[in-house]
Amino acid sequence: MLESFKGEILSPVGSWEMLYAAVRSGADAVYLGAKDFSARRNAENFEIGELQKVTQYCHIRNVRVYLTLNILIKDTELSDAVDLAIAAYNAGVDGIIVQDLGLASTLHRLAPQLPLHASTQMTIHTPAALPILKELGFTQVVVAREMSLKELEDFCKEAQKYDITVEAFVHGALCMSMSGQCLLSAFLGSRSGNRGLCAGPCRLPFAAENGTGYDLSLKDLSLIDYIPTLYKIGVRSFKIEGRMKRPEYVAAATKACKDALVNGIVDTELQNTLKNVFSRSGFTDGYLQNKLGRDMFGIRTKEDVVSADKAFPILHELYRKEYKSVAVGINAVIKENEPITLTLYDGQNTATAKGDIPQKAKTKPTTYDDVLKNLTKFGDTPYFDEGGTIKLDDGLFVPASALNALRREACLLLDNLRADLSREKLSATYTKSFCQTQRATAPDIIVRLESIDQLPKDITGVTAVILPLECDFAPVENLINIVDIPRGIISEALIESRLLKHKENGINTCLCGNLSAVTIAKKLGFNIIADTGLNVHNSESAQTVADLGASAVILSSGMTADNIASLASPIPKGIVAYGNIPLMLFKNCPIKNGGDCSDCKKDKTLTDRKGVEFPVRCRMGYSELLNSVPLWLADKNLYGIDFKLLYFTNESKERVREVINAYKNGSPADCPYTRGLLFRGTL
Ligand SMILES: [Zn+2]
Repeated sequence: MLESFKGEILSPVGSWEMLYAAVRSGADAVYLGAKDFSARRNAENFEIGELQKVTQYCHIRNVRVYLTLNILIKDTELSDAVDLAIAAYNAGVDGIIVQDLGLASTLHRLAPQLPLHASTQMTIHTPAALPILKELGFTQVVVAREMSLKELEDFCKEAQKYDITVEAFVHGALCMSMSGQCLLSAFLGSRSGNRGLCAGPCRLPFAAENGTGYDLSLKDLSLIDYIPTLYKIGVRSFKIEGRMKRPEYVAAATKACKDALVNGIVDTELQNTLKNVFSRSGFTDGYLQNKLGRDMFGIRTKEDVVSADKAFPILHELYRKEYKSVAVGINAVIKENEPITLTLYDGQNTATAKGDIPQKAKTKPTTYDDVLKNLTKFGDTPYFDEGGTIKLDDGLFVPASALNALRREACLLLDNLRADLSREKLSATYTKSFCQTQRATAPDIIVRLESIDQLPKDITGVTAVILPLECDFAPVENLINIVDIPRGIISEALIESRLLKHKENGINTCLCGNLSAVTIAKKLGFNIIADTGLNVHNSESAQTVADLGASAVILSSGMTADNIASLASPIPKGIVAYGNIPLMLFKNCPIKNGGDCSDCKKDKTLTDRKGVEFPVRCRMGYSELLNSVPLWLADKNLYGIDFKLLYFTNESKERVREVINAYKNGSPADCPYTRGLLFRGTL
């Protein structure tokens, strides 16, 4: 089906009207969710039974269809998720967008034909992730929105070597957190961003000192002017965000992106309309330009809403008519004593319609121009005339109505050929094949410190200590020493050199919270522990990280106690069981406003509208929002885990000692605390 891949404008679709708006404005591909398992579970989405109609409508018009299945999956859902992906493929879908490592590897194993796209929720932002994506069967990757032009260029060069298509967001909302690394909505309101139900709490007031008061709310992204540049450096899929927005928005954004890709420019009027139709105090290109800072922040103001109301009616005009996306060659034969024939050829399919035998002209014979005019009236179709031949004998008469009927019939025939679903049907079903390993009766205690100075003298009962990669420290005797690689990787070279430094010191185990970190650590011969950033949420994901070389796994902090207990892992599994755990990961430090974070003080916080303070921690070019209160599970029985990770941030050495003791003794909390999502789960 695919013509040579010249780059695609990829538009969001949540309903039939949005689909028409996208396709009629020039989308080359659309992405949409099915009713379950989509990162926008509040969007209208499509029933699985409708998908075939959608793909047929799209394929007739040269438009590819991608299904979003980009959430973290529970063990109990894996089978349904696999069924959905297979059903979608059989319904003609051209790609499946996946976040969950276990789902991806399961799909690739069961149905290697399935084209898998790595969701932006996988937080891919440096090239070292590429060999793993290749191994997992991904053919396209949606990169993180935080990348600069230079980073993107380097990434694209490397992606070419792996034959992986690079997809980048060029328009729409910007999350404050790197996608896939946000627990804010889950922890604050039980609505998980990793499960498709983000409630957007970052748009509420969170105030930094000298900030805007909305210091987690970024303006919308718009890189439309850069599309020709992005194409030049190797980006091939240009994605528009907004499955929950209006069709008018989709139309305006699609048209503008398409103009930029095809013509290199977008007229000012359309640019203005686009701004009016939806923005948050205007747009930003801060990440691409590597100009982070205060300018990037914005909220949806009253003015933004008013201008949208004015813009909508004009925009209907953009998608009233079919977009001419398919060139057809025409071959017509009108001869005496033969039924007239019209053949349409789209480069691959040939559709021939036959009419009646033409009559002899009594007065005015049909002319070549009459025939041409009527046979090329493709008004209500996506087809346009690319030339051809008309053989017309002299002295014949064919009524215009007959020519029109013939054209309509040929178009329908061609529609049917283009919509054909003759691809080989897949029939894979998922059956569980993993085994549960034996669990220790008393899980080990592992501590994660910000600095070696927090380590108490008495560490009985602790088996391992984790320290930040950026810290210099001598290995602690009698403990396994582990370094924690930041989830946000500002420079692969820097990560490598820091790892090597620790290796010289005799430390050879590290936490990897990003696929790039896994590649780097493996290359340098480190033992790998899969960190929470890899979002291991089910047994297949645990198997996948084990296959990638991990010797232990820290499960996603978005899981319930029941799901944790029943998750089967071939390697030791643990959870973060204490601490002010990171809820967000930023490249744009809200404290420093994008400046150099090296002097960001440890006691910096953001204050929410109720006056609650959330600490911000800055590490090697990225920062994290920490929860306002620690997770406390010392007094809870946790089943099926091999270790508990106590995640210390700003605690004193004395407090670290107290907490370790409390976890050894099963003590109740002695401070304000949260149980996280362990016992309430998320929607
Ligand atoms: Zn900072």
